[in-house]
Amino acid sequence: MNQQETRRPLSDWLPLTRKEVENRGWEELDVVLISGDAYVDHPTFGTAVIGRIIEEAGLRVAISAQPNWQDDLRDFRKFGKPRMFFGVSGGCMDPMVNHYTASKRKRSDDAYTPGGRAGARPDYATTIYAQILKKLFPDVPVVIGGIEASLRRVTHYDYWQDRLFPSILESSGADLLVYGMGEMPLKFLLDLLGRGVPFHSIKTIPQTAVLLSEGEKIPKNKTWKDVEIASHDRCLEDKKSYSANFKIVEQESNKMQARRILQRIGDKTLVINPPFHTMTEKEMDASFDLPFTRLPHPKYNQKGEIPAFEMIKFSVNMHRGCFGGCSFCTISAHQGKFVASRSKESIMKEVKKVTEMPGFKGYISDLGGPSANMYKMKGKDESICARCVAPSCIHPVVCDNLSTDHKPMIDIYREVDAMPEIKKAFVGSGIRYDMLVKEYNKRGDADSMNEYMEQVLKRHVSGRLKVAPEHTADKTLRIMRKPSFRFFKLFKKKFDEINSKNGMNQQLVPYFISGHPGSDLADMADLAAETKEMGFKLEQVQGFTPTPMTVATEIYYSGFHPYTLAEIPSPRTAADKEAQHRFFFWWKPENTGWIRRTLGKLGKLKLAGRLLGR
Ligand code: SF4
Repeated sequence: MNQQETRRPLSDWLPLTRKEVENRGWEELDVVLISGDAYVDHPTFGTAVIGRIIEEAGLRVAISAQPNWQDDLRDFRKFGKPRMFFGVSGGCMDPMVNHYTASKRKRSDDAYTPGGRAGARPDYATTIYAQILKKLFPDVPVVIGGIEASLRRVTHYDYWQDRLFPSILESSGADLLVYGMGEMPLKFLLDLLGRGVPFHSIKTIPQTAVLLSEGEKIPKNKTWKDVEIASHDRCLEDKKSYSANFKIVEQESNKMQARRILQRIGDKTLVINPPFHTMTEKEMDASFDLPFTRLPHPKYNQKGEIPAFEMIKFSVNMHRGCFGGCSFCTISAHQGKFVASRSKESIMKEVKKVTEMPGFKGYISDLGGPSANMYKMKGKDESICARCVAPSCIHPVVCDNLSTDHKPMIDIYREVDAMPEIKKAFVGSGIRYDMLVKEYNKRGDADSMNEYMEQVLKRHVSGRLKVAPEHTADKTLRIMRKPSFRFFKLFKKKFDEINSKNGMNQQLVPYFISGHPGSDLADMADLAAETKEMGFKLEQVQGFTPTPMTVATEIYYSGFHPYTLAEIPSPRTAADKEAQHRFFFWWKPENTGWIRRTLGKLGKLKLAGRLLGR
């Protein structure tokens, strides 16, 4: 272990054990957090952020990380009964995505556990943890949050059991659900409880959901309008109604003035309150500037590295949210469509902290965000955004009202690059290449786009720039909410020009998805031929996984597009998915015969010539 790590007192971390609580002289806790991940005290790990906010409010908080749910449940009981509530999260990833591959095979590792060990949390962890707490401490409120709770807040499709589940509030028995990024609702909740408001009467905090029992009145709120979506029972009976629900849920989750969503689940009523405003720069800074050690708790020192921490320990997150609205992605459903950015000062302060971390050798692995090049971007006239229901600001076209100025990012990249402690600062997060193509981003400032691209390629790429066209077939790209592949070709042209002008040899690595709703075998054959002719031998490819609360997942389950209710086919059997995926690997000798036969059946033998030669 590094000297700097050993010098830090244990009290720099939030308590993880009974002994640490006693060392602080605490006889009781205000809040106990239960987490499916190991405790890494870093601003990109949700439990650490929630814990630090509770601590900042002057309250006593401890974490039970990855508690054993199969023994006598001592990990759930070790801190006793908290004064205010238990806060539960399944972890930074939905546990089912964490535990299983796209083909539902059990994974042998877990990036959020010391040593990358699998098996430290149950499937459907939030539900299991909350049920245990309700059994052990029936009178203590349970608040659930994090990605699993957030994206399972309403009737949703669970790919792993291939059926619809009701809101996770129903299965878990929790009292309150926080969706999206938890800071604002949590502060609101702490404030109300601090003022003596009884927990059971708290039902109108924005960005939370509650489940009302039969006969309970819908809480009054003068500023919110309500919208009722198809009941859970109706969704079970009728896939079209289920699909149509999603349009409402997605639009209301991304509006500046959203409606409150109501849904019947049997005799109960689910109430999902509208989200908070997008966090301001000051609010973002306040969250990122909390006194994180930026390190895993020392308890893990002898237990092996935590892979997810190793990946991000020298990186800095500049903003949250994404206005891309890709059909298969959950970012906007969780973090929101509107981008929340930190101040330059707060980012630079964190970069400085990273340079002082044990083991830092001069390389920042990422100056990024969900999409790297969205920092500080927003509507030019936000009163127009306030009336907008578009799920994406850049698809099917870039909105005239969107500012895509790349200068604030260039400014930060350059300032970080000039720091004497930094040898190189990479931009590792995905770059939205379409915003850098003038023919697509017609109103964008060409100078700032070109300057950004040159800056990134010359100073912030490790030899390979990864971008995500995701497909080549326009009909599938439209369903994915991605631009036509011809814009990727224009991007590549520009990329090649910058490369040769500067005598560089950077490589462009495109990402693709097979098996996406709308994609068929003929599309995949075209994809293989198109990319081959551009000189790519694909490596960054994945099969589509239907995760809760995405447009693509709703299409996969229901067969209908939530916005148009048009029927859209999806490959559903393992064989169909495998066949689509196989086209990525046209260059493997063992696939030659199969590809020729398949193209023959599709009546596309001409493609065989393009793909395999004579
Ligand atoms: S008006 Fe344009 S920039 Fe504003 S939210 Fe809508 S699509 Fe995005």
